[in-house]
Amino acid sequence: MEKTCTEVWKNCLHIIKDNIPTQSFKTWFEPISALKLDGNVLTIQVPSLFFYEWLEEHYVGLLRKTVKKQLGDEGRLEYNIVVDKSSNSGSPYTTNMPSNGNGAEAKVQSMPIPVSINKDIKNPFIIPGLKKLNVDPQLNTNYTFENYIEGDCNRLARSAGYAVAAKPGGTSFNPLMIYGGVGLGKTHLAQAIGNEIKRNMPDKLVIYVSCEKFCQQFVDSLKNNTINDFVNFYQAMDVIIMDDVHNFAGKEKTQDIFFHIFNHLHQSGKQVILTSDKAPKDLAGLEERLLSRFKWGLSADLQIPDLETRIAILKKKMYADGIELPGEVIEYVAHNIDNNVRELEGAMVSLLAQSTLNKKDIDLALAKQMLKNFIKNTSKEISMEYIQKLVCEYFEVPVDMVKSQTRKREIVQARQISMYLSKSHTKSSLKTIGAFFGGRDHSTVIYACQTVEDLIETDKKFKAYVNDIQKKLKMS
Ligand code: ADP
Ligand code: MG
Repeated sequence: MEKTCTEVWKNCLHIIKDNIPTQSFKTWFEPISALKLDGNVLTIQVPSLFFYEWLEEHYVGLLRKTVKKQLGDEGRLEYNIVVDKSSNSGSPYTTNMPSNGNGAEAKVQSMPIPVSINKDIKNPFIIPGLKKLNVDPQLNTNYTFENYIEGDCNRLARSAGYAVAAKPGGTSFNPLMIYGGVGLGKTHLAQAIGNEIKRNMPDKLVIYVSCEKFCQQFVDSLKNNTINDFVNFYQAMDVIIMDDVHNFAGKEKTQDIFFHIFNHLHQSGKQVILTSDKAPKDLAGLEERLLSRFKWGLSADLQIPDLETRIAILKKKMYADGIELPGEVIEYVAHNIDNNVRELEGAMVSLLAQSTLNKKDIDLALAKQMLKNFIKNTSKEISMEYIQKLVCEYFEVPVDMVKSQTRKREIVQARQISMYLSKSHTKSSLKTIGAFFGGRDHSTVIYACQTVEDLIETDKKFKAYVNDIQKKLKMS
């Protein structure tokens, strides 16, 4: 007796169920229905193109085996894909796709671009009253180009961002990857692009999402069996801004999903903007195929801003907040906090808070006192090289002379002070210090320190020298 397609598929499901985790079965196989059996060709219907890609990528081996078990060696599988149309045509149409099992990577690129999207897709950001596709871009409107100060540190990234904002999807900067250390302005710049697009092209569907949130939404959609809605939502966007993609590390399934979304958007000429704490080539824990996509467009880095830019950032921030600080205070803060913009702003905010609490105007002395802890925590470790450089500059002697054997008075003095400061300002042992300053032994260092201490006690001028240098050390 001939078997019906439903029976055959039921038998297949039986085997598949035993071979994969329950959750995966629920997500990927329960939504499938058997459509027809034509000789030895079984056609199954899947809810979307994405589903088809996913099945072919992850389950093609299992599917092929089970189908052959049911229909013999000549058994074949075909997909019927329901393609949602956003046009008025009403019912969705379908398209057929053979199973070939060539691996998804090659196939994905030769796939036709899926026709867009169902009208009432579900928004994982849960916006009540969603009717037409009217998506809150999740942007912070304070992050604009206008208040993003330009400097050498960000010129390329900023102008590329500007170009992308003017023509999303229409430049070769796709994806645009903005990378750089913490607090250097990645989120600000990425959001500024989104805000600029929304300002000039309000109809564009823009979505900002942190990688972390995206991962969470994916997990939730698996739990709730809404994976299709999840993917559809992101694939419907004109611009996706994904912040901190280094957080994809180790999350293979989410990377897979994003890979598909990325391909879809990119092929449809939509804009992808990414940020990351490292250059794509240095990102660990990301799948190669995803990384290679990230390298397609432009990667632009953000550096630590130089002093002038830091001052400009502080001034802009003050202006925006309607406050005023004396120039020398701004300069002091900008000079001393030089590792990232967030800390720079943080220092200023705490300064203002303290002055409000104490009802005192902020002058340089107060700023110094208040920021003492801040600066101590953030300042770099002082090295012997640096001490040597500073001391030699101070006494105007050639830098390498302190390491030589010369017994000239001013050189000996510079050498001894360098050793003394190395002992008090670095964690180096006496032996290391001696070795560094011209291969001397530890007793020479002890002698040098003793001499400097004696001179500080007895020689006012000498004491002033040492104090001066120490001050410079602390300023740096
Ligand atoms: P990241 O995402 O790289 O960690 P953010 O974008 O959150 O850094 O930036 C930290 C803070 O510094 C934000 O308040 C941001 O507005 C500010 N900032 C960074 N770069 C600039 C800049 N070039 N001009 C003005 N503000 C900046
Ligand atoms: Mg950020």
